[in-house]
Amino acid sequence: MIIVLKQGASQSDIDGISEKLQNLGLKVHVSQGEERTIIGAIGDERILRETPLEAHPAVEKILPILKPFKLASRDFRADDSLISVGDQVIGGPKVAVMAGPCAVESREGLLTVARAVKKAGAGFLRGGAFKPRSSPYSFQGLGEEGLKYLAEAREETGLRVVTELMDPRDAELVNRYADLIQIGARNMSNFTLLKEVGKLRKPVLLKRGLSATVKELLMSAEYILSEGNHDVILCERGIRTFETDTRNTLDLSAVPLIKGMSHLPVVIDPSHGVGRADLVPAMCLAAIAAGADGLLVEVHPNPQEAVSDGPQSLRIEDFRELFPRLRSLAEVVGRAL
Ligand code: PEP
Ligand code: MN
Repeated sequence: MIIVLKQGASQSDIDGISEKLQNLGLKVHVSQGEERTIIGAIGDERILRETPLEAHPAVEKILPILKPFKLASRDFRADDSLISVGDQVIGGPKVAVMAGPCAVESREGLLTVARAVKKAGAGFLRGGAFKPRSSPYSFQGLGEEGLKYLAEAREETGLRVVTELMDPRDAELVNRYADLIQIGARNMSNFTLLKEVGKLRKPVLLKRGLSATVKELLMSAEYILSEGNHDVILCERGIRTFETDTRNTLDLSAVPLIKGMSHLPVVIDPSHGVGRADLVPAMCLAAIAAGADGLLVEVHPNPQEAVSDGPQSLRIEDFRELFPRLRSLAEVVGRAL
């Protein structure tokens, strides 16, 4: 249930109502927008029938939330959420560019990509230290050693680090090194993991599952939000369809769709979305045109030798050449890069 307060409601009104709701056993989330404050009360709403709040002088209206996701919904927050990741802000006029290898393979390789993508204009370095591989015999990632290389690259370049967490048992470890914790497509419905990152105070990049609907993605985001972590960024990374010439089908309509349903920022991962480096530049441009708040792009110094996702990784020079084109397009749609 959403309690919309009147314009000019005071802090003591907000605190008083929040306390009343908490005493009734409801979880309270306060969202202070530009114009007015909204209080979300989550729990058994029938309790409120006995304690009507409408009579409170600071309350304008009370709305039930009929959708299965509440805190993620536009009803809860009309303004776009801005998520700060270090010195970077995601969800504002600037399109965030996150680039780097699929997996952290070596210190030298990672530093080479980090320096190059920084020079090209990216704000974030991506790279998996824990890799969700289809085969248990494929490279599984360097683990903490990989996280250390990411931290070293951040130290040198100032890039913010985005890296995947696969297992709740590694939450503390990954949290120590990452600026933005990625939850991969295969774990979108791992509710134990979602609750765990919900307890952290670190922004989360939540990827859409391989066969998940947008509604299911938003419900997974709700798991994180309802634990108190409000810094969730959604990522469309392609979904399974009957098409076989691309690895997945990149659902760009998800961008305006999600924007209508939710206040959370949306990032596009064209690399996993299509699985082919030759199609990635066009999808980056299209993502910005569609209103995406960021891009997650795989870049490798030598894609032919990459241990994972080489065919979809851009070479450094491809990424460098793409950047000015992205910048020009962003300007046309009122964004910056
Ligand atoms: C990745 O970003 O490296 C990755 C494994 O992505 P996804 O979870 O979308 O497959
Ligand atoms: Mn990959």
